[in-house]
Amino acid sequence: MPDPLAALADIDDAEVDRDVPLSRFTTWKVGGPARYFIEVRTQRALVQALGVCASAGLPVRTLGNGSNVLFSDSGYRGVVLRLTGELALVETGVLKIAAGGGAGLGVLVAGASRTGLAGLEFAVGIPGTVGGAVMTNAGAFSGSCASLLERVETIDLRGESRVHEGFKNEYRSHLVPEDEIVTSATFVMAQAPKEEIRERADSFMRLRRQTQPLGKATAGSVFKNPAGASAGRLIDECGLKGRSLGAARISEIHANFIVNEGGATAADIHALVEHCRDEVLRQFGVGLRDEVVHLGEPIVTTQR
Ligand SMILES: Cc1cc2nc3c(=O)[nH]c(=O)nc-3n(C[C@H](O)[C@H](O)[C@H](O)COP(=O)(O)OP(=O)(O)OC[C@H]3O[C@@H](n4cnc5c(N)ncnc54)[C@H](O)[C@@H]3O)c2cc1C
Repeated sequence: MPDPLAALADIDDAEVDRDVPLSRFTTWKVGGPARYFIEVRTQRALVQALGVCASAGLPVRTLGNGSNVLFSDSGYRGVVLRLTGELALVETGVLKIAAGGGAGLGVLVAGASRTGLAGLEFAVGIPGTVGGAVMTNAGAFSGSCASLLERVETIDLRGESRVHEGFKNEYRSHLVPEDEIVTSATFVMAQAPKEEIRERADSFMRLRRQTQPLGKATAGSVFKNPAGASAGRLIDECGLKGRSLGAARISEIHANFIVNEGGATAADIHALVEHCRDEVLRQFGVGLRDEVVHLGEPIVTTQR
């Protein structure tokens, strides 16, 4: 079988490398090496890359901004793919905004606000991409992706294009099949005065600054909120705020956030996640479910 690295390196509009530390591409700044790491700038390059991966039998994982993932310290024995170039463009239209799967939500929100398109203000301060947001139904302040989405285009692992419409607005769940790659999404927007949009976005951002450890290495909320409850409050009521393991610490500001204080491993974070889960179950009988996506080789918990 030909060397997949050579075949991937042959693709136009793509950059490939091997043994790339994923800690460079995640907001927690942890994660071991991806065996292959490829950035594709066009749909054609994406389809070609998927063809190489399929013939080499390599697993593929798309990474957005890495703000909702925990890759293990031993990394990912497959291909980690990122969408850039024309797969990360934002285009505004009449009461619509369309973006590539690799587009940053910040760029999307700014583009909408500049053109007087309202609806996406809830996403201000969510440090993800459009693809990541579709895969997690990102939301905040009673807004969510699903409620605005009109259409999502994807590519499946065989390289076939698919179109999805009509989305169930389920809390933090993937809106298209998990093994497809989101290449673009179109959101239906409302017209509003630009000043009003900016003020709403600013007020949401102020609330975030007051309630979240912004500027720290985190992945946002670790757990989904259980029905009718707050995961952060439950963890806080277990007395776990400030608890640390290695350089991973449960935030004093928001107990559902774990901060990498500098030099934490994925195993430290994972152990702290499991400690929170165990304590909340023991003290409140509530089973917390992951919001963060755990990826890579199984994590061996550190003994301390
Ligand atoms: C400070 C902070 C605040 C946050 N606040 C919020 C919040 O208010 N609300 C909220 O919902 N989330 C929040 N998050 C979490 C996170 O930012 C969102 O879940 C975001 O949508 C993830 O996007 P991403 O591009 O970083 O995805 P990643 O973390 O890179 O990936 C997440 C999942 O999506 C998949 N994926 C990514 N891109 C694609 C693609 N193009 N095609 C197919 N699959 C893809 C990945 O394989 C993975 O399974 C916060 C995170 C931080 C650090």
